[in-house]
Amino acid sequence: MSDDDKYTEVTRVPLWDGEVDDTLVCRHVRQETHDVKTFVFGAREPRAFKFYPGQYMTFELPVAGMTTRSYTISASAARPYRIEITCKRVAGGPGSNWLHDNMLPGREIRVSGPTGDFTTDATTPRKRLFISAGSGITPMMSMTRTACDLGAPFDLHFVHAARSPQDLIFRRELELLAAQNASLKLAFSVTTSHASDAWTGYTGRLDLARLEMMSPDFRDRLVMCCGPAPFMAGVRAMLEQAGFDMDQYYEESFDFGTSTEGTIEDHTAAPEVTGQTFRVSFPKSGHVVDVHPGMTVLSAAREAGLLPMVSCQRGICGTCKSVLVSGEVEMNHGGGIRKREIDQGKILICCSTPLSDVEVEL
Ligand SMILES: Cc1cc2nc3c(=O)[nH]c(=O)nc-3n(C[C@H](O)[C@H](O)[C@H](O)COP(=O)(O)OP(=O)(O)OC[C@H]3O[C@@H](n4cnc5c(N)ncnc54)[C@H](O)[C@@H]3O)c2cc1C
Repeated sequence: MSDDDKYTEVTRVPLWDGEVDDTLVCRHVRQETHDVKTFVFGAREPRAFKFYPGQYMTFELPVAGMTTRSYTISASAARPYRIEITCKRVAGGPGSNWLHDNMLPGREIRVSGPTGDFTTDATTPRKRLFISAGSGITPMMSMTRTACDLGAPFDLHFVHAARSPQDLIFRRELELLAAQNASLKLAFSVTTSHASDAWTGYTGRLDLARLEMMSPDFRDRLVMCCGPAPFMAGVRAMLEQAGFDMDQYYEESFDFGTSTEGTIEDHTAAPEVTGQTFRVSFPKSGHVVDVHPGMTVLSAAREAGLLPMVSCQRGICGTCKSVLVSGEVEMNHGGGIRKREIDQGKILICCSTPLSDVEVEL
């Protein structure tokens, strides 16, 4: 038997290389709930995607020129030939509405990633509790699907909250997975339900008494949480009140404006540079600003009265990509720029801190 015969055709599919590959093709669209759709993508040419469950990709949407939005991969990391994202239509939101109205099978879209730190090692038997609300279910779904696909021992309690039974994303699939995997304990909680829903699950706000019923040993678990900012604040307060060891708590925010405590590192944090100030010049406009240690190029531009295009301000979306004409910066990005772009002298100004005098083309 030759070496070639030892492998099936499928294992020869090249890996998706985020440095080179940047275009996904929509293959299917699934309506999950009345305002949530799953978009299934493949690469243009056959590619295997390597990602950790809980990671996301950033999409360049042709809205108002170009708008970037990040979406967590909801699919199992053990099924590497597709990328699935599950997007909730947000009232008045340009990105989610564009996806819902325009993303159809055959349509191509430019992306970057996968990236992100909100993940868990699905192969370790650590006891876990997932708590999610609304579209915050997506990273948990990827982790759950991956754990079930891998078949390794796991012990997972999964609490998901939604407005009503009709808003429960992935309800049927999760119920099926729980029926097939004794180590997955599922609890849905809704804010309101009607008699016609025939709802037998929890109704009302998630509180400590309910959590004790849903996950009696939650204090022994690693807790991962994702949902709207007020929901996560409530979960944090509830756990703190219960004396939970918050070192075992991780959360992911879908809102760039709120915290990502215990998860993604703070990409806007300044590196340790003491004392020295540096000169940041913007040759196009002729502005020059002296910056204090730790100030980003974006802060310098704003101090100069410039209004560069920015979005996430965490080095993720790539909106503020600019050319570093001269000098040196420390860039703590979150995946919003490719290595080849860095090699071409580009930087993300939101997360770049001068280490010398610099000139930046804005
Ligand atoms: C790392 C990361 C992962 C993400 N993963 C997902 C995902 O898997 N699924 C998903 O639907 N969205 C996800 N998002 C949010 C997504 O990037 C967009 O923000 C969202 O689709 C709204 O974009 P928009 O342009 O329609 O509205 P925007 O103009 O961006 O937002 C309009 C308003 O809606 C609020 N909002 C934004 N997203 C949501 C939401 N999902 N539910 C309720 N309110 C919201 C915003 O805070 C804002 O006030 C993620 C965001 C990040 C940063």
